[in-house]
Amino acid sequence: MIIDFHCHIGQSKVFSGKSGTAKDIVQLMDKRKIDQAVLLPAASPRKPKYYEDALEAYKEFPDRFFPFFLANPREENVCDMLEMVVEKYGFKGLKMHPSFLGVAANDREWVYPIAEKARELKVCMMIHSDPSLYATPWQIGLLAMDFPDIPIVMAHMGFVDVIYNDAAIDMARRCPNIYLETCGVSAEGKVTQAVKEIGAHRVLYGSDMPFHDPAFDMARIEYAKISDADKKLIMGENAKKLLESLRK
Ligand SMILES: [Zn+2]
Repeated sequence: MIIDFHCHIGQSKVFSGKSGTAKDIVQLMDKRKIDQAVLLPAASPRKPKYYEDALEAYKEFPDRFFPFFLANPREENVCDMLEMVVEKYGFKGLKMHPSFLGVAANDREWVYPIAEKARELKVCMMIHSDPSLYATPWQIGLLAMDFPDIPIVMAHMGFVDVIYNDAAIDMARRCPNIYLETCGVSAEGKVTQAVKEIGAHRVLYGSDMPFHDPAFDMARIEYAKISDADKKLIMGENAKKLLESLRK
């Protein structure tokens, strides 16, 4: 069983264009034998759709997608919107992209109210990480320390820089509620290192599809020097368990 924890729908500025229809994505999933995917609204368009595209795709393919809400703290009614999509449509979590928003991941005034709402609703928070001013593993670690009962998925595990990958692993070592998602990570050796330092149970395969083919990110897990049992956990079993633990 393969669950991809990082799949996009909607318009993206950085990937120059639209991600494709839900059907296109499902076709790509079938090609790569991906059973299910966490579906995140793309974070960089001029007018983001916080949930509409993801909801539509979910309605079309309810067995293939777990839709997430795109949280923008600049929207006054962001917490009400989150509550609505969780209660009315069964969304499992929220995604936040601190770098595009220009809001630090641990901003107490803007992000903490959203985290409090996520805790109340029993959904998970997926936070983009990178070496920018806003989304470093250390900042996400501080958020995770203040909300130890919310599962926090650190998307990209620090991203392309090895120092930030190390920081992501270090934060996950300190915070048992942090999960490391692996798309775009610098090298497969960092997946090996993560498993060695925190175990395989909190490492999640993700790909950023369909902006690029999931084969790239699948290879990162395939070539990591870890056991086949650990690869199975990372490719889907951990995601299944995490998603099942969230609000029904
Ligand atoms: Zn992404």
